Amino acid sequence: MGTLYIVPTPIGNLEDITLRALRVLREARLIAAEDTRTTRKLLARYNITTPMTSYHEHNKLAKLDTIFDALAEGDVALVSDAGTPGISDPGFELIQEALARGVPVVPLPGPSAAIAALIGSGLPTDRFLFVGFLPRQPAALRRTLAELAPLRATLIAYESPNRLVATLDAAREVLGDRPAVVARELTKLHEELRRGTLSTLADHFRAHPPRGEITLVIGGASEAPSAAPWDEHAVRRALRERLARGEPRSAAARAVAEESGWNRRDVYNLSVD
Ligand code: SAM
Repeated sequence: MGTLYIVPTPIGNLEDITLRALRVLREARLIAAEDTRTTRKLLARYNITTPMTSYHEHNKLAKLDTIFDALAEGDVALVSDAGTPGISDPGFELIQEALARGVPVVPLPGPSAAIAALIGSGLPTDRFLFVGFLPRQPAALRRTLAELAPLRATLIAYESPNRLVATLDAAREVLGDRPAVVARELTKLHEELRRGTLSTLADHFRAHPPRGEITLVIGGASEAPSAAPWDEHAVRRALRERLARGEPRSAAARAVAEESGWNRRDVYNLSVD
């Protein structure tokens, strides 16, 4: 029995493929490719002539026999159009089926837009959540964002250029104006990692509609502006500033109570103090 190798391929720059991936593709009995035309270009670049069969969203069940027949004779390499199979790409069902049938599954490390965007973003990498493509429908999008809002993890989403601004706007409304990065056309000629906040990025891409492939990285809940409690010293200082500007005592106390999260009566008493 052969092995099912999961083989990541470049997300743009054809040099982004490992020596091991090339060897596995060359030596496999069959390559199961999401789109054989796309993979053919990669194989041609490296003079690989391994036979291919298509394995995509719409034939993934019908193709199981072909792939397991080949696995009975030798190794099969699973590739998607770009990046890592199974990551918002076909692969999951085949891997599950292989494991159920006792076929060894070997994952090769390699390119994925999610990880490239994360490490280039400058946002914390110690805890992150990949959410794939966010829902398109506005109510579902907001619901999903609301679920993600309390998480102290950097969020990574795939997004299409024509929905980017709407997603940034919705994210700002639901999550607050967090730091974020739009990673566009990674590893390609027009690669851009634009860093800012959800609102500055929305303004930029409203004025300059984006093209190409996009991965969105958003700071986690802990990256939002600090909600640390104010100490008495900070409350007194804010009060002094407002009173010095001539604000009435009760209005100043109300405003500072709202800003600081303190009880209004306590703030008022401090202002009299
Ligand atoms: N399996 C792939 C991976 O591991 O990166 C992702 C496949 S998913 C169908 C395609 C989406 O990934 C694109 O719509 C885009 O959101 C993101 N993506 C792919 N290539 C990219 C690139 N070069 N730069 C930025 N995002 C990219």
